[in-house]
Amino acid sequence: MSITENVANIKARIREAAIAAGRDPSEIKLCAATKMNDADAVRQAIAAGVDLCGENRVQELVQKSSENAYEGAPVHFIGHLQTNKVRQVVGKVDLIQSVDRMKLLTAIQDEAARQGITQKILLQINIGNEDSKGGFAAGEIGDVLDQLQNFPNISVCGLMAIPPISQNSGDNCKFFQEMYNLAVDITAKKRNNVSVEILSMGMSDDFADAIACGSTMIRVGTAIFGPRNYT
Ligand SMILES: *Cc1c(COP(=O)(O)O)cnc(C)c1O
Repeated sequence: MSITENVANIKARIREAAIAAGRDPSEIKLCAATKMNDADAVRQAIAAGVDLCGENRVQELVQKSSENAYEGAPVHFIGHLQTNKVRQVVGKVDLIQSVDRMKLLTAIQDEAARQGITQKILLQINIGNEDSKGGFAAGEIGDVLDQLQNFPNISVCGLMAIPPISQNSGDNCKFFQEMYNLAVDITAKKRNNVSVEILSMGMSDDFADAIACGSTMIRVGTAIFGPRNYT
């Protein structure tokens, strides 16, 4: 299957999952997770109608930006971000989805202030409480958001999660449900520079479940581009 066919197929499945959940399909954005795919593949995905691209590695972001790969679509950063690379990302992407620790928030605030801009971000939640994954614990997010009132150059637009790798379809529903509940809790307490318009969850294998639980952005790699070649 071509990238074009894959994207059409995924969009049909998004539509189906949304309607089954009583939701408007246009509420759900398709983010192409473009890691390890080249500029040409990215251009094909954009031409096929993905809403935006998500890049994992700073080096790939810089490289593909220089090739104008993302022309016509916003680009988000979705990977682990080292504080010493913040300067290459802040102001270069519409949204940083993978903000997973206080030290990174401080670094983004400093760089955004230096540039005189407001950087939009999502807070990444370690929803499965896995040692191997970054992210804030669900229980500490209220405190983090309170502290962010002192970060005037950061605007929180929502939450992102990567649940544990699952064996069976349906395994991640409880994590998606917890994310949704967390989003509802946060919305109930109004804070400056915080909103939860974006709930970024769901990947190639589980996006229909994520949509059933309220996801507004799915991040899909393999189902668009095929398996990644790690060799
Ligand atoms: C790679 C990646 C995805 C997409 O994963 P697939 O299983 O290939 O769809 C989504 N989110 C993040 C953060 C990723 O790194």
